Amino acid sequence: MRPAPVNLGDEAVLEPRGLQQLLEVLNGQGYRLAGPTLRQGTLVYDYLSSIADLPRGWGDAQEGGVFRLRQLQEPRFFGFGVGQQSWKQFLYPPRRRLWQARREGNGFQILPPEDAVKFAFIGVHACDLQAIAVQDKVFLQGPFLDPHYRARREQAFILAVNCGHLCGTGFCASMGTGPRAASGYDLALTEILEGERHYFVVNLGSERGREVISRIPHKKAQAGEREAAARALSQAAGQMGRTLNATDIKALLYRNYENPRWDQVAARCLSCGNCTLVCPTCFCHTIEDSSDLTGELAERWRRWDVCYTVDFTYLHGGSVRATPRSRYRQWLTHKLATWIDQFGVSGCVGCGRCITWCPVAIDITE
Ligand code: SF4
Ligand code: SF4
Repeated sequence: MRPAPVNLGDEAVLEPRGLQQLLEVLNGQGYRLAGPTLRQGTLVYDYLSSIADLPRGWGDAQEGGVFRLRQLQEPRFFGFGVGQQSWKQFLYPPRRRLWQARREGNGFQILPPEDAVKFAFIGVHACDLQAIAVQDKVFLQGPFLDPHYRARREQAFILAVNCGHLCGTGFCASMGTGPRAASGYDLALTEILEGERHYFVVNLGSERGREVISRIPHKKAQAGEREAAARALSQAAGQMGRTLNATDIKALLYRNYENPRWDQVAARCLSCGNCTLVCPTCFCHTIEDSSDLTGELAERWRRWDVCYTVDFTYLHGGSVRATPRSRYRQWLTHKLATWIDQFGVSGCVGCGRCITWCPVAIDITE
């Protein structure tokens, strides 16, 4: 069930320069700002230093196997959907050293771990808030707690944005995860452009968010501004490119292990693994040990792995899932069915990344 919206009091209104001041306050509190920006002709999530780094005036057009930037007719800061990356690259990086040891005489010394970065995530969409909540269940709420994830996650400040744009491959509305940010944020912005006016309606989601807002000039939102924010959200919900009917989907998938549909998809699937790498909830990884040539230094690294490779399930003598059919079936059944048995929630938040970034446009909603 979708959590009730958080409301710690009246909504505030910020002008665009207030957004810059907000980033400066976060910077001053020691946060490393990370958010959407343009690099090499596409949208990436990277470090930001000011609002000038945001992709102002740019949006996107997404379809199965297609992502294009498009110039908007208005100077929106947050006029785009999600890119190929997600916040998981910061909380659960693609490669991470787990430990490092140096030889000392007949023994060894474990070197201290790196300090966890204190992130402020700028511009987190509702689907990605839910994806963070899903990964919290995996890394923080199961029998095995991940200290590396926890160190970053506990400090992270989240500035969410409510979606007010066309979403070509997303289906968060039908998954109950968006387009409104319901919980899990410190502050949530709805960006409004009306004639000459450009402002943000800000919802407060935590005491930490309230404290940050109190440090910058803002006004209390009036009825007309709150209504404009509600209109923008309902418009976004009506502009979803896709829907997925998740009612009884677990039983449906468990009944259909041998459905011929798996063969049809497998005939197209390249086993490239893009869909898992872009998915904000996928968490599979492998562990690699290495030592330097002198034998003085040894390290253990964790890196993302994908269930589409033959090696992923290799046991002595062969792979458990030797065909694209069995690997695709495993991935999709895990996302939409067995994940619910494991973690009590769906592993899919409806962000649409796996559809956009699949080179042959295989579509989970089909
Ligand atoms: S399965 Fe696809 S749509 Fe669902 S969360 Fe992962 S990338 Fe997004
Ligand atoms: S479904 Fe698409 S993205 Fe995923 S492994 Fe197959 S071809 Fe690659």
